[in-house]
Formats: sequence, structure tokens, C-alpha cells
Amino acid sequence: MSMSSLDPNVTWTSFLAASETKISKHVLDTWLAPVRLVGLANGTATLEVRDQFFRDWLNDHYLDFIRAGLKEVTGEHLAVDWVMNPTHPAADSPGVDLSEEEAQVAPPAPVNTFVGSLPLNPRYDFDTFVAGRSNEFAFAACKAVADKPATAYNPLFLFGGTGLGKTHLLNAIGHQIVKEKPRTRILYTTSEQFVNEVINGVRFNKLDEFHNKYRRSCDVLLMDDIQLIAGKERTQYEFFHIFNTLYDSQRQIVVTSDKLPHEIPEIEERLRSRFQWGLIADIQPPEIETRVAILRKKADNEGIPLSDEVAFFLAKSIPSNVRELEGALIRLAAHASLTNTVITLDYAKQVLNDILDARGQQISIEAIQKLVAGYFQVRVADLKSARRQKVLVRPRQVAMYLCRKHAQASFPELGTRFGDKDHTTIMSACRRVETQLKEDPSLRKQVLDLERQLDVPAT
Ligand code: ADP
Ligand code: MG
Repeated sequence: MSMSSLDPNVTWTSFLAASETKISKHVLDTWLAPVRLVGLANGTATLEVRDQFFRDWLNDHYLDFIRAGLKEVTGEHLAVDWVMNPTHPAADSPGVDLSEEEAQVAPPAPVNTFVGSLPLNPRYDFDTFVAGRSNEFAFAACKAVADKPATAYNPLFLFGGTGLGKTHLLNAIGHQIVKEKPRTRILYTTSEQFVNEVINGVRFNKLDEFHNKYRRSCDVLLMDDIQLIAGKERTQYEFFHIFNTLYDSQRQIVVTSDKLPHEIPEIEERLRSRFQWGLIADIQPPEIETRVAILRKKADNEGIPLSDEVAFFLAKSIPSNVRELEGALIRLAAHASLTNTVITLDYAKQVLNDILDARGQQISIEAIQKLVAGYFQVRVADLKSARRQKVLVRPRQVAMYLCRKHAQASFPELGTRFGDKDHTTIMSACRRVETQLKEDPSLRKQVLDLERQLDVPAT
């Protein structure tokens, strides 16, 4: 067959089909599928890509592969030539438009330049982080990543409830890398900002700039609150390709999330699975000793006189959110200094009562699940799973019982929130706990402990 009779489109499609068994789907999707074969003449295959970056990467990594593959399909030894076309449709996310939700986000000003990465928060480093049993695994994983970016764990997925130190640790990684390898280009951002950048890029035709920033000008990507890309299709598309580029070229990715990958709703499966490639490190609510230590450290740093008695009282009263714990301390210190009083236990109780009142009485299902998981040293995901191990069954039933009792939720809602279970499962769990409470003192103690930590009147 002479070359002139070959249709370039068909040729490339056959090439891709033939490649499927030879390289990973991931490489195929990321690098080869977006390419277009636009010319086949004079012993040369002309490939169109979106930009120089794409061309260089393909040239460096897949040129031989492409030539061998084209030889197989066409029977000819072909030279490869590149053209770049910024409006190249394939590279520009075939069929992935802004979702309704994305389209509704107002473009941030100024619209014609991308905001640089966010500055790291100077207060959040490893030295100011207090490690305890609840967070030492995540702490160690973050340090390992900071010591050896892209070698230890990639990606690192930091998971934990609100106010437990995810943002703090993410910043700490950044600081440590800057200190040890000042030339490393660190991009620290939140997925909220990332969403805005994607939207601006699409709206104002500035995706090149956006791609350059994330794919080329970044050695370490620190992305806070990744769960917020749920349901944002175009953002996920962009993130997916950035992820692949960074990952393939051995650059470090760290993301934080208040949900486990499989709990983030409306997220593409291929992204979810990438989050699981590396290490998932979770942060549990700190145990009381750690909470006291956090308060001590904070008080020392801020020069707040804090007695053991008051520290312990605060730590006991605010179990599951370090941000609130710190907030209470600051508020207490402010009151005390404004009114010229010493922070006594009585005074602390009085101020804290106001805080707790202001917080409202409604306790969320999520808060209870987290508390129970932390208490029994299991994962929230285990509470929602259907696994029947004994060590999981009791925590799960207790969590259901406490949610029913204190979160004022219906059985069907609880069913949904416990991993899509039938409402009868929840009903029988609650009934079972009620019966056992009468005969099992250890269960009674556990439930009482938990209710005390929830700061609800025990019954
Ligand atoms: P998250 O991002 O998980 O919601 P943050 O990282 O914003 O939580 O933490 C909330 C506040 O609590 C921050 O001021 C942070 O410094 C502090 N904090 C959380 N955990 C710790 C800890 N283990 N040691 C010291 N401070 C902590
Ligand atoms: Mg945060």
C-alpha cells in the first residue's frame, strides 16, 4: 500500500489500538491519545500537539515507541515531525466542558493573570506541630515526604476531620523542603483556588499559562482540601492530567482531604484510584494528653498564663477539633486580659459555656462518627463498611446508637450516612445497644465516656 493512500486519522487510531497492549493505559490516555496525526507524506509522519511541553515530553520519552508503532501499522520507516497548535482540540479536553457548578463560579479578579501560588503560613511548621498517637503516623509520613520528595510516598494523601492539622502539616512539608532544597519550586494551593484558575483558563483562553504553571513550573504540588473538586468535571480533568505529568516526571504530590478517596462523591474513578497509588495517612482526633500538650505549646508561644487545671478542663471539654481548642484558649486569654482577671477554672468554665452555647446544640453525624472511630481506634470508613469483624461491629453499633440519640437523624438518613445500609440495619443496631447497655458495664462505660466527650448530658 502506498503511503499517500493512508488516512492519517485512521492510521493514528490503529496505532493507538495496537499500543493498548504494549504500554499502560495511563500513558496511553495521557500522552498518546491527545496527539493527532495530521500528515503522512514524504516518509514523514506529522504529529500535532498542543504545545512545546507536550512535544518535548513525547520526543524524550516516546519517540522510539511511536516510530516502531507507526512502522507496524504503515509498514514504512517514518520520520516524525511535530507541529504545535494551541487550539489543538484533543489536548484541550475532548468533551469535558465546565460543569454547571463550575460555570456558576464568578471569575475572581483580576481575570487576566493567574494568581500565583499561595504563600506558606509561617506559623505552620513541624516544630509547632504536636505529635501524639492520633497523628504520629501522618506526622512521620509528612516528614518523610519533606525529606525525600517524590521518593518516599507519592502521592501522599492526608486525610482527617476538620481542624485536626491537615493544613498545618501540608505547610510544614513546604517549609521543610524550602529550608533544605531552596531551589525546589513549590506550589501550594487549595483546590478552591485551583477551580477558579481552571475556570479562568477556560473562559479567557489562558489554559497554556495554567498548564505551564502546574506542569512545568512546579516540583512539588501541595493541594489543600482536594475533596472540593467533587462534581467539578473540568477541574478534575485538568487535575488528572497535571497529576499524571507530575507523577510521571517524579515530582511530589501531596493532597489533603476531609474524606477518604472512596468517600468523595462525584469524583472520577481514575482520579480516585490515583489517590490510592501512594500512601493514605490519616489524622485522628488527638487524645487528651495531646490536646493538653497542644494547649501548653500554644500558651507558651503566645505568652498566655495557663494552669494545668484549666488546660485539662479545656482539653476535656473540646475533644474533636484543635481549631476550636485553640480558639477557646485565645478567647479566654482575650477575656482575661481585657477584664484584668486571672484565668481560673471557674472563669474558664464560664467563658467556655458561652462558647459551647454559641456553637449550638446540634451535633452532627459526622462528628459522632469521628469521635467514635477515634475512641475505638478504628477508621470512620470501617464504621461505614459492612465488615463483620468483632472489633468493628461494636464501634459501628455504638456510633449508630449515638447518632440516633444525639444527632436527631432518621433511620433512613442514618442508613445512607453509614455506607448506604438499609434503615432496618440501623434500627436493630440501636435496639441491640439499648439492650446490652443494661447488662454490659464495659459498654455502659464506653457510651458514657463518649457522651461526655460529645458534651451532652449522659442518661
Ligand atoms: P485542618 O486543615 O485539618 O482543618 P488546620 O491545619 O487548619 O486543620 O489546624 C487547625 C488549627 O489547629 C491550626 O491553627 C493548627 O496549627 C492547629 N493544630 C492542629 N493540630 C495541631 C497539632 N497536632 N499541634 C499543634 N497545632 C495543631
Ligand atoms: Mg485545612
